Formats: sequence, structure tokens, C-alpha cells
Amino acid sequence: MKTIPSSQTVLLASLLVVLSSCGIRGLPVSAGSSCPDCETTDCPDRETLSINYLGSGGYLLRRGEDVVLLGPFFSNPGVLTALSLLPIGPNTDAIEQWLPDVMTADAIIVGHAHYDHLLDVGWIAEHRAPQAMVYGSRTVAHLLAALPALENRVTIINSSYSAGESAGNSKDKREPWIWIPETRVRFLPIKSEHAPHFAGIKLMTGQLHKNLDRLPARANGWVEGRTLAFLIEFLHPTEDRALFSLHYQDAASNPPLGYPPPDLTVDAALVCVASHREVSDYPGNLLQRVQPRHVVLGHWENFFAPYTQDLDELRGVPFSDPWDFIDQVEGYVATSQGTRWTLPAPGSELVLVACP
Ligand SMILES: [Zn+2]
Repeated sequence: MKTIPSSQTVLLASLLVVLSSCGIRGLPVSAGSSCPDCETTDCPDRETLSINYLGSGGYLLRRGEDVVLLGPFFSNPGVLTALSLLPIGPNTDAIEQWLPDVMTADAIIVGHAHYDHLLDVGWIAEHRAPQAMVYGSRTVAHLLAALPALENRVTIINSSYSAGESAGNSKDKREPWIWIPETRVRFLPIKSEHAPHFAGIKLMTGQLHKNLDRLPARANGWVEGRTLAFLIEFLHPTEDRALFSLHYQDAASNPPLGYPPPDLTVDAALVCVASHREVSDYPGNLLQRVQPRHVVLGHWENFFAPYTQDLDELRGVPFSDPWDFIDQVEGYVATSQGTRWTLPAPGSELVLVACP
């Protein structure tokens, strides 16, 4: 695999990024709030899970008092910054404008350490989600160590479930679930990978091995680290079983990387459109495996342009044809009954309903 490009390649790539982001005219983008099961799932004590798409593969999940953020990101620096030609930092005005109230958030879970998933997390954890524990790889922890305010608030995810290694070997079928304190939420980190960004080229690779004392000033300092997928369960109020279960990925992967344990199906799969063509059978193969009732297509919009929730301004992420992705999702939907999918505009919300 090729790695960091030369400065000439960088300039060419930046031109390509600008040229290749596609308009969304005709794309079935959903805005506002939808609750497909609200009419049909009715019981006196029914519960809801709100899945609020924030953009760039980030989400806000709420079930009652339990509040979890997944890789929130609003800063959207331009392509020259993304290619490390200009300094990078969180755009606090954009965060303040677009991040909903998350003062009571319990956790921020991060799949990998690239700037489009981690750059805003430190500022959000310090200023907007002061009670949240941050969960991520060792590299995530080494990066956030630069922020004294987050001391003792970052949990390193040391072990993960690995679908590949466990196949046919019962000894390796350990499932290192993590419980989020004072919630009815647990999650299983799953060994995954990060698709190349385009044309087989992967940018910002590598891991960190010691704490930083300053956050990286350029995008290429926000190296990937280990990339994880997650199975997230919002538990029944009193019983040890999931009331809502989600599979979440912030990067496309080759099968079986990112796959949860066998025989586990989920209510919703939050999948990643960006760079899906750089890996095999994504997301079709994963969807067949986890059999979600709802498929949410995340990380589909151009995060090199200023953050927006305006359907007229939104553009598709460069190098990733959403139609090709949608074809695969529709292929899965055609084989399963009652399944729905949504391509959410940032800010839109999907509400799931369950009877305990
Ligand atoms: Zn990434």
C-alpha cells in the first residue's frame, strides 16, 4: 500500500477533492425527525432510542437519561488544511452552533484517531460534555493526553473482539464488553480497519506510542491508530438483554474485519459511505451478516466544505459514489422483510421504538 504522498501529489489530490465532491440533487437525503415504528409499536411502557446524525459519521444517541456521542465532528477544515498545508484546530464557533445540548452525555466513543473523528472531541469533552468519559484506542489516548482537563477521563480500549481470529477457535471468542458507568449501556469494541482514502492510497497512517503535550498542529499528526467498529447495546431496564442494539463503523472495512460475534443481529447498522469502493463487498456483506432492521448511511457528505445542514448546500464526500453504496443497501433490503434505510442530512434524527 502507498502511504503519505509528496507535496506535488498533495496539490493534485486537493484539486481532485475539490472537483470530485458531487451534488446531492436526486439523492434521497432525509431531513428532520422520523419514527417509522411509532404507529405500530405501541405499549404503555415503550421506550425510544434517538439516533441523531451529526455529520462525518458522528452521532448522538439518547435513550432516556443515557446519552452517548460517537465521534462528533463539526470543524470541517478545507482541503488544504486536511492535506496538512495549513494549521488545524477545532472550530469552536461551528461546534457551539451545531452541537445539541450534551451536558449530561455519559460517553464519547471514537472509532479511530483521524481528525474528522477526533479533532473536536477534546474541546467537546472539556466544554460541552463535562461528565463524559472518552473511549478510544491507545493512539486516541496519547493524543488527548495533551489536554490536562481530560486527565482521568479517557479510557483506553485495549482489547477488542476479532471476528477473523475467532473463526473456528473457541478460545479466542472472548468478548471484551465495556459498560458505561451509571448507564444501561454497554459496547463491544470490534477489531476493524480503515479503507484507503482513494486509489489505494491511505493518508495519516500509523500509531502513537507516547503521550503528546500539545495537540498536533497539522492534520497529518492526527494519525489513525487502531480502527475499531462497535456493537452498542442499550439494555432492557431490568433484564440483562439489549432493548436496542446498534452496529457502528466510522470507516469502511474488508470482511470479516468489523464483524460482530456470529448469530448476533442488530436493530440498526450505522454504516460508512466514505471510501467504500476501496474495500470489498461493503456494506452488502456486513448487512447480510448483522441483519439490521434499519440501515443508516453515515459519513456520506463532503467534510472538506464548511459544516451545513442545508440540503441545498450539502455535497457528497469525494471519491465515494453514494449510488453505488445505495445499490448494495437496496440489495440487502430486497432480501429482508420490513427493513428500511436512510441517508440522513446532518441534524436529522431516526427514532427507534421498543416494548420492554
Ligand atoms: Zn479516517
